[in-house]
Amino acid sequence: MCASLLDMNQYNPEEMVAWDHHYVWHPFTQMKSWCENEETLVIARGEGCELIDIQGRRYLDGISALWVNVHGYDHPEINAAMHEQIDRLPHSTLLGQANVPSILLAKKLAEITPAGLEKVFFSDNGSTAVEVALKIAYQCRQQEGQTQRSKFLSFGDAYHGDTIGSVSVGGIGLFHAVYHPLLFERIEIPYPAEHKTCDDACLQPLREVFEKHGSELAAVIIEPLVQGASGMRLAPIGYLRELRALCDKHDVLLICDEVATGFGKTGTLFACEQEKVSPDLMCLAKGLTGGVLPVAATLATQRIYDAFYDEYASKKTFFHGHSFTGNPIGCAAALASIQILEREKMMEAMPGRIERLTKRLQAIASLKHVSEVRQRGFMVGIELMQNPANGEPYPYETRMGHRVIEEARKRGVIIRPLGDIVVLMPALAMTEEQLDRLVDVARESIVAATES
Ligand code: PLP
Repeated sequence: MCASLLDMNQYNPEEMVAWDHHYVWHPFTQMKSWCENEETLVIARGEGCELIDIQGRRYLDGISALWVNVHGYDHPEINAAMHEQIDRLPHSTLLGQANVPSILLAKKLAEITPAGLEKVFFSDNGSTAVEVALKIAYQCRQQEGQTQRSKFLSFGDAYHGDTIGSVSVGGIGLFHAVYHPLLFERIEIPYPAEHKTCDDACLQPLREVFEKHGSELAAVIIEPLVQGASGMRLAPIGYLRELRALCDKHDVLLICDEVATGFGKTGTLFACEQEKVSPDLMCLAKGLTGGVLPVAATLATQRIYDAFYDEYASKKTFFHGHSFTGNPIGCAAALASIQILEREKMMEAMPGRIERLTKRLQAIASLKHVSEVRQRGFMVGIELMQNPANGEPYPYETRMGHRVIEEARKRGVIIRPLGDIVVLMPALAMTEEQLDRLVDVARESIVAATES
């Protein structure tokens, strides 16, 4: 048998980096900086919550592979489930066929998500989960005869993914402005991150927008409790429940994008649970498979499903689907991941672990160039400013967030900023010692980068 193409012994680290620079275009990356100014980290293996590069150096992963990993990288049960399924059937299509893991996973998701979410449409990633939700919501309203309900309400600074539909409901100018001519119309209101309590002042803009546009809205889409990519911005508790009530009053569908918040990151399995809210559509991806394979799901209520359920000739079919929809290996990994979460009662252990993290973070909140530390569960954003007292940010080209992560890397920890917001988003499986180390290194790195 020939040597595996993936056996690193055949290659030297320098040529691997050179090939990366020559052939790979990295996401959300200015490739000139990547190729000319940055040290390229090539990961070869993962063990627990650590990543090991091709030189054998170990790093604690403080961002759970961009918010996806739940149980660490080499969980034996998830690996075994994937191996078992590979041997049986790596893939078959859901167009015109069903497969066992996707049936079992859909059933499980209907059981563990908020009441009323009964139907599961699979896709591959967070952006497609959102794209599917938007298309289902729109088509649903058309087929209900509510043709005037053609608009979406979404939030300023929102991030729902990178496909054109999900960008249309996004609100991060830096990422989205250039595509403006390609996007569909949406109505935007600010995410209530400036408000600490959900009082009348906080709710007024929402009430006004529903009064004015309620009858033309197909749906509203929100990142529940926390806006992730805009910098871990927190909505006050109670806002989501009020939004649900307004949606009910005005017959507007509520889409909760739990791509980032789902599978425990906010301290409950789903963020919606904290406000006892059941959305009409829910988007899941990232942590669904424990973070090991790209599977996403859009869950819908019976009412929505019924708007599509008709005679063949009615043409009310949802004409949407991806080649890898319902991939059996991914669904097997997801089933194993959920089984571990349940059997090990991982959500029950979260409050104590979150409290420990909160206490440890206090040592960061008091630093000279930290303007705010925001935390909900294991989602943490540490905002850096040149002068927190007068709100003066660092100049864009200073790349202060990036300098912090370079310092962290020297100390054996991987984190990734959102601009000048240092994000910590550990896997649920991270040990208490690892959590402490993550925060301590983040603190040392902020001091080293901002006070040098
Ligand atoms: N929705 C939210 C809230 C997200 O945070 C993200 C990604 O960070 C997405 C959607 C897009 O997910 P993906 O990167 O898997 O397309």
